[in-house]
Amino acid sequence: MTIHAKAFGYFKTNCYILEQSGMSLIIDPGQGAHAWIEKTMNGKPLAILNTHGHYDHVFDNSILQKKMSIPIYIHQDDALLLKDDDTEVGLIPSFPDVYLNDQTDYEIGPFRFRCIHLPGHSHGSVLLDFGKYIFSGDFVMENTVGRYDFRTSCKADMHKSLKKYKDQFSIYRNNRHVLVYPGHGRPITIGESIETINKWLKFF
Ligand SMILES: [Zn+2]
Repeated sequence: MTIHAKAFGYFKTNCYILEQSGMSLIIDPGQGAHAWIEKTMNGKPLAILNTHGHYDHVFDNSILQKKMSIPIYIHQDDALLLKDDDTEVGLIPSFPDVYLNDQTDYEIGPFRFRCIHLPGHSHGSVLLDFGKYIFSGDFVMENTVGRYDFRTSCKADMHKSLKKYKDQFSIYRNNRHVLVYPGHGRPITIGESIETINKWLKFF
């Protein structure tokens, strides 16, 4: 699998294109990502996956959904955010086609991944585990975890999710070949993600 990555918008939100066997998936197309995607993507687009519904991660959903006629995957608890422009940033509504559920395996063309629901930063935040590649959205990043003080956040849920992640991923903490690709910033190892989470758990 090949990964292309580029950051978009004021918050430098990472958009990822995954490619395998002439097929492509798009993760979190932020503001302005569509032009880069069309230029960079080599394979046939199969779907858009949203790690959560905050506008900086879904801004170009609508334009891509219309142009490419591909389905949008998102957790049900963030689906309403796709048409919620209460921050008045000019978000064009997009529409979920498939819901991403906790501890569920998905197969889209040649791609296989497991979804893990990690609410807290938003109610419908998910992690997408492709085996060697883990897309963590705004759940965990280099030296920090996602903010849990937004209107769409829940601190108690974040606490539970941080512990859930540790329970599920601690066994891989010494594996330097599995990388976590966050919504902002550079990829980190599982070991780094666990260290970061341990630091942040002290604030709960
Ligand atoms: Zn976010």
